[in-house]
Amino acid sequence: MKRIVLIAVILFCAIYTNAQRKTIESDIDKKVDALLAKMTIDEKIGQMTQVTLDVVLQTANGAATQPTQIDADKIKEALQKYHVGSILNVSGAAYTREHWYKIISDIQSAAAQTRLKIPVLYGIDAMHGQNYVQGSTLFPQEIGMAATFNPELAKREGAITAYETRASYIPWDFSPVLDLGRNPLWPRIYETFGEDPYLAKTMGASVVRGYQGNDPGSKYNVASCMKHYLGYSFPLDGKDRTPAWIPDRYMREYFLPSFRAAVNAGAMSVMVNSSEINGVPVHSSHYLLTDVLRGELGFKGVIVTDWMDIKYLHDRHHIAATQKDAVLIAINAGIDMSMVPLDYTFYDLLKQLVKEGKVPVSRIDESVRRILKMKYMVDIFERPVGNPDDYPKFGSSEFAAVSLKSAVESITLLKNNNNVLPLKKDIKVFVTGPAANSMRAINGGWSYTWQGDVTNQFTTDKKTILKAIEQKIGKDNVSYEPGSSYEAPEDIDAAVKAAKKSDVIVLCLGENSYAENPGNIDNLDLPSAQMDLANALAATGKPIILVMTEGRPRIITPIEGKSAATIMAYLPGNEGGNALADILFGDANPSGRLPYTYPRDANALVNYYHKNIENGNSDDKHGYNPLYEFGDGLSYTTFAYSNLKISQPTLKEGETLTVTVDVKNTGDREGKESVLLYSREEYASITPDTKRLRAFDKIDLKPGETQTVTFKLTSKDLAFINDVSKSVTEAGEFKVMVGGLTQSFNFVTSVVPSRTGKL
Ligand code: BGC
Repeated sequence: MKRIVLIAVILFCAIYTNAQRKTIESDIDKKVDALLAKMTIDEKIGQMTQVTLDVVLQTANGAATQPTQIDADKIKEALQKYHVGSILNVSGAAYTREHWYKIISDIQSAAAQTRLKIPVLYGIDAMHGQNYVQGSTLFPQEIGMAATFNPELAKREGAITAYETRASYIPWDFSPVLDLGRNPLWPRIYETFGEDPYLAKTMGASVVRGYQGNDPGSKYNVASCMKHYLGYSFPLDGKDRTPAWIPDRYMREYFLPSFRAAVNAGAMSVMVNSSEINGVPVHSSHYLLTDVLRGELGFKGVIVTDWMDIKYLHDRHHIAATQKDAVLIAINAGIDMSMVPLDYTFYDLLKQLVKEGKVPVSRIDESVRRILKMKYMVDIFERPVGNPDDYPKFGSSEFAAVSLKSAVESITLLKNNNNVLPLKKDIKVFVTGPAANSMRAINGGWSYTWQGDVTNQFTTDKKTILKAIEQKIGKDNVSYEPGSSYEAPEDIDAAVKAAKKSDVIVLCLGENSYAENPGNIDNLDLPSAQMDLANALAATGKPIILVMTEGRPRIITPIEGKSAATIMAYLPGNEGGNALADILFGDANPSGRLPYTYPRDANALVNYYHKNIENGNSDDKHGYNPLYEFGDGLSYTTFAYSNLKISQPTLKEGETLTVTVDVKNTGDREGKESVLLYSREEYASITPDTKRLRAFDKIDLKPGETQTVTFKLTSKDLAFINDVSKSVTEAGEFKVMVGGLTQSFNFVTSVVPSRTGKL
């Protein structure tokens, strides 16, 4: 009875909230219409224009003066002459909350002096926490959040980031990144939720819900911005912003689902892929921006360009003979707002195009309506700045605890020979490597600055891996030598000497911080200086605990075999040092799972959901032979899977297949386990992937405890995109695989395999 009452209450609340939302939205629509009716064409085009903060800052000798200050004439020019609707970014390094207050107040006061007093929509890249305000809570980067396989935690991270973004008076976050991280060369892997479409869509939608909450206009929520639509992460050569070749069905199978899920979760805006696909720059693609995103996905929010990307249609892509053509093409494709961002050319050119009748006013109205609606939805007409006293939890220990939990749940134990981990606390530990004593190393890019290069200055109250280990077992038990920088050896001899006096070596290798193009590489191998350090330490015979902090999986095969234990820490954020120390010494039990395939060799980059590439020769290792697999991750306890059951041997359209499995903690300590369900179709009209993740659940088990985990699947969950770009589930035999167990069932349908499409 109690249950029925609870369900009724939940249902009532959902219906009520939905109805309330509809009323609010229709009120907003009326306000938008009324405002739009008062606007001149210049004011409308201004709303579609976004400039970077530097454009309105005081400068001396060509650089922003420090501390940065809004230049009264420049902001007047931006808002009165060009009617600019949006400003983005930070100039220099992260500001204090007080400084953000001043900057945003100055901007909004200037907006209040314009004819229609339309507030400016400020946007920022708060990518793993509000990384552009001092003292904020920095979480693991998205790749680490993916490794937690914990959507609730991702939602909480989103909610805290939103709170701290609003605490810096900003209502719009250019996040989450929904690109699939499946080409290890690409420098933005760490900004993604990894290589799997199901994981990316589940975590991405959760973060969107965390950012926006039930009401993006609340003082604790922000509008999210999905990015970078679409196919950005799969450049042929692995370099940022370089061409991709992605057939339509492939695009829909792998890259579209995360955006579709985020649209369904209510994402209010989207940023476009800077690059080109099949020779078509995405900023010029009516097909992707309008037909697919708006037509098929039903997206109703704001489409903003990425940095300077309308200009690049002329300068880089050479599909527009003039800058004016570039604007025309982008607007016709469906762009609402141009991140110009350094001047007002977009404004001038669009004005000319409207005057010449090449862009109808109705097209401008469409975009401006969406932008104004977003401004009302985030409530900046009522609260253009926000109240500094409303955010007592900013940078609090409560939020840091969530960051720590996220880091602990993300860190992935890949190898633990003879249970060398957890370490005892009364041993002598030698800590070394370029990442050992650097907050920059554990935060990565998008931390305090774009490149994350001054992180150490802003994190003096936080703990590096070394400092956290010292705190955990006492300074006297810890020795330290850097041994090597990222690219060049330092004093390897000193490191060897110190190692010999210790019981165990914690070797911290990986990549220094970078973001976007500066992170491009020509060689996936870990630089030789770090390899040399590892080899010299291995020669001492002391057990090596290899800790990797890196934005993408660099090739470590030649040295990884020499470690006693290997830990993938990704970029675990400001609590990453503490999280690692907790795991190393057994105060926390690892539960992260690898969200991508860790390649063994630089020229063998195959994702886990590859096609069947076996050639029948079991000695052939030239196909899929990774160092570690997607989903790998050990615990200090052990789990046994049994009783995998399916509800029926035959599944029909409209029916639900229930899959259950028993998971038992067979070890002697409590642990979390991500239970992953994969499926495979044995034969299909498009060569089926060897397996695909279809569901997962993270559970917590006490020693000896067993839980039955239940998954529900419908035919839609098993669908693939066929050769005419349609989502279908074809009749045939399927397998479900959970924890090494397999069950088969038949899907029965009247839909005939669609080889007929093009043959
Ligand atoms: C990046 C975006 C980012 C934008 C604004 C671009 O270079 O690709 O992810 O949101 O800059 O900073």
